[in-house]
Amino acid sequence: SLEFSRKALEVKPSSTLAITAKSKELKSKGLDIVGFVAGEPDYNTPDYICEAAITSIREGFTKYTNASGMPELKAAISEKFKADNNLEYKPDQIVISNGGKHSLTNIFTALLNPGDEVIIPVPYWLSYPEIVRLASGVPVFVKGEKLDGFKVTPEKLQAVTTDKTKVLVLNSPNNPTGMMYSRDELQAIADYAVKNNIYVISDEIYEKLTYGDNKHISIASLGNDIYERTITVNGLSKSYAMTGWRIGFTGSSLAIAKLMSGIQSHQTSNPNSIAQKAAIAALEGDQQPVLDMKNEFEERKKLIYRLLGEIDYLSALEPQGAFYLFVDLSGILDMKYKGETLESAAKVARILIEDFLLAVIPCADFGAPEYMRLSYAISREQIEKGMGRIADFVKSLE
Ligand code: PLP
Repeated sequence: SLEFSRKALEVKPSSTLAITAKSKELKSKGLDIVGFVAGEPDYNTPDYICEAAITSIREGFTKYTNASGMPELKAAISEKFKADNNLEYKPDQIVISNGGKHSLTNIFTALLNPGDEVIIPVPYWLSYPEIVRLASGVPVFVKGEKLDGFKVTPEKLQAVTTDKTKVLVLNSPNNPTGMMYSRDELQAIADYAVKNNIYVISDEIYEKLTYGDNKHISIASLGNDIYERTITVNGLSKSYAMTGWRIGFTGSSLAIAKLMSGIQSHQTSNPNSIAQKAAIAALEGDQQPVLDMKNEFEERKKLIYRLLGEIDYLSALEPQGAFYLFVDLSGILDMKYKGETLESAAKVARILIEDFLLAVIPCADFGAPEYMRLSYAISREQIEKGMGRIADFVKSLE
């Protein structure tokens, strides 16, 4: 028949990308929009990385590479895992893909059979459930408590574990909450995963953006049993301001790496050769630009968190990592704006963009319909202006 793929029809296009596009469109019409929506650093990729790419083009490095990535880049990533994460992944345990999203697609495709359940803590990055469904898996949601920084515990996980449970997804530092798991919390989750014989996907893409005393820990580094069943996902998008270059990677057991390489060899072949050269430069070069960006994000975090604290009815936990402030709107959802009850974060977001020229992400698609996410990957000046608009909005409520 002419029916389209049911799997494809069920996919919900990314609402964050849609709102970001709308905000850009209004800006291009000359409106003074403040955008708290960006899922990417506002910086340009550091110069030394761009130079390496330009050189590689001039030198004719414009052909296919190994499907799962260049040996030199795998070696650099292997060193990175050792130095930053206390993880021993040999180069042949590493697969390099077109961004972290593509790495996740490969992992779920490699692990899931139809009906296999994947536990996703709520709130979650909105792409996880969609990627799981595309790989014929079934997302199972487990809700964290605000008091615990929305983090899940072995007890909560055990309560949703069935004989179909195959994978647990962890994301620390977290998008959208900005929270991070401590070593003890990860150890408890590792014990749960080993006991129940399930895989853990550890999405560590925001690893380099951590604030104050918060230290990123890789769950796979906590012992041999958890190492064996963890797939560690990372990439250069957020830490090196390289979102457009599309480089993500995994460290896993050799068996899983081989499966993912095989899948990738048919679906996309190698990630862009020039971006791989740039990635080698990024990992092996001076890390000061990365630290400088992080330090500026930390200042912005302090600023936005302080400004939110000055607004009545709204609250948020102070972010520990990444670049998002996760704002609890429940204090205003029964209030009225121009006679109309607010009801949902989606409505708040619509009013903010239409009447206050402020773009925010309502979090229903992140499993948190009473929250909005504010990205502080924008200048301090823009943060002050945007938070002023939120304050004006809240003052106007009845
Ligand atoms: N994981 C999380 C939690 C993210 O927020 C993102 C990007 O928004 C990614 C993975 C994927 O990043 P990329 O595909 O740009 O490497």
